[in-house]
Amino acid sequence: MAPFDNFVPAVAQALQQRVPKPECPLCKQSQWVINDVPVSAPVFEKTGEVKFPATAMPLAALICRHCGYTALLSLGALGMLRQNTNAGQVAGAGGTPPPAAPGSAESARSGA
Ligand SMILES: [Zn+2]
Repeated sequence: MAPFDNFVPAVAQALQQRVPKPECPLCKQSQWVINDVPVSAPVFEKTGEVKFPATAMPLAALICRHCGYTALLSLGALGMLRQNTNAGQVAGAGGTPPPAAPGSAESARSGA
């Protein structure tokens, strides 16, 4: 199984729990495609510099099939970053099940 085989369903499930029918802010359609792998944005240091290799914010890209508008969603906010493992590991990668729903045993453990 490829590393991100489960990424799109995991993002779709996490988004569905929060925004059941997301509408494109430009064209008002609801024809989203989730990019099949995570994307990242470099993060500025507080000094204003961007380091290379940069610290990066892991994101899911939602692309409107109708107008091309692209929304970037934080994988951290969607609960898709694994806690207490290597930074940047994405839940849904490597065939792991989708992230647990809020209030589940898994999300309760992450606060420990
Ligand atoms: Zn659109």
